[in-house]
Amino acid sequence: MHYKEIILANGEKRDYYEVLGVHRNASDTEIKKSFRKQALQYHPDKNPNDKAAEEKFKELSEAYEVLSDAQKRAQYDQFGHAGVSGSNGFSGGGFGGFGAGTPFGDIFGDIFGDIFGGGGGRGRSQGRRGDDLLYNLEISFEEAAFGVEKKIEVPFAKRCGSCNGSGSRPGSEPKVCPTCRGAGQVRYQQGIFSVSKTCGQCNGEGKIVTDPCPDCRGKGSVKDTKTLSIKIPAGVETGLRLKSAGDGGQGLKGGPNGDLYVALSVKEHPLFQREDNNVICEFPISFIQAALGCEIEVPTLDGKVSMKIAEGTQSGKVYRLRGKGFPSLQGYGRGDQLVVIRVETPTNLTRKQKELLEEFARHSTDESHPMKKGFLDKVMDFLS
Ligand SMILES: [Zn+2]
Ligand SMILES: [Zn+2]
Repeated sequence: MHYKEIILANGEKRDYYEVLGVHRNASDTEIKKSFRKQALQYHPDKNPNDKAAEEKFKELSEAYEVLSDAQKRAQYDQFGHAGVSGSNGFSGGGFGGFGAGTPFGDIFGDIFGDIFGGGGGRGRSQGRRGDDLLYNLEISFEEAAFGVEKKIEVPFAKRCGSCNGSGSRPGSEPKVCPTCRGAGQVRYQQGIFSVSKTCGQCNGEGKIVTDPCPDCRGKGSVKDTKTLSIKIPAGVETGLRLKSAGDGGQGLKGGPNGDLYVALSVKEHPLFQREDNNVICEFPISFIQAALGCEIEVPTLDGKVSMKIAEGTQSGKVYRLRGKGFPSLQGYGRGDQLVVIRVETPTNLTRKQKELLEEFARHSTDESHPMKKGFLDKVMDFLS
């Protein structure tokens, strides 16, 4: 499988639940309530010539259209935005794309009328593009660092073999849609507005199946799964999406296939954290090791590395192991590993240990604690 592009999650569509400000398991009533409240606030009628409010309103409407529909919500929960885009989703332009039968009527019906009922429809379509699929894949920290090849099983909509995707019983033909007379769009008058929207009977296709194929019940597609082998390049991180063009659902009636997106999330590592291409590792040492200096064995992505800790090392000192970090996704060089020294204050001391430390304290001078001495001098100056 070859990737044409790698897409960063940044700048993508916001999470619909986040947009509506509701919990992932919010009830239909909560979703409706939250949408209604915000939609009233950002409605274009109340905010004329306010581009930001208009954008916000569009975002809200889109989120609500998906989350208020049990089937779309389930698809969204499983596959994210890709699960509800494409053939079943939004056309994007204006407030268009909301077909007949959407739940907007019952919320705005009496308040605003159906002024955003349509407009940017898709018109009569030639074939239907296959669904875009989003596959969430979790990989280990090491796999992200060195790359990996994974086999994934992807559910997708396959063209029905019996009717070859037409949805009509073999031997029969779809009929011209009586509602839009084949145009795919219907116009109607709503108050002072003339509204055009995608024909609800034929979903904009201009034709309807009157004698459905028994194998796909007129849908033109059947559910199937396919196993794909995907190569994950070294250096990937959580939030990256790999796109594999044409590996989504099969197109219908001559339409192109959808795309497959693999959204990566990298598991946390018990020892390492990642910052850009650097690997951070916090390494605890005893205050005695810190005072006397020592040699430690540091774990890295490439195995153990032995490292000298200097005498008198303070907590928080960072040692850098060059080239032991993540490889750059662009293929040039590697980041570093940063070893952050944490000096541990001993606890649960025995009587003997305490005695020895008190003995040690009696022998201590300002010279062994220059930081403390310097600070106390400043305090004296300040208070005098
Ligand atoms: Zn069929
Ligand atoms: Zn129609």
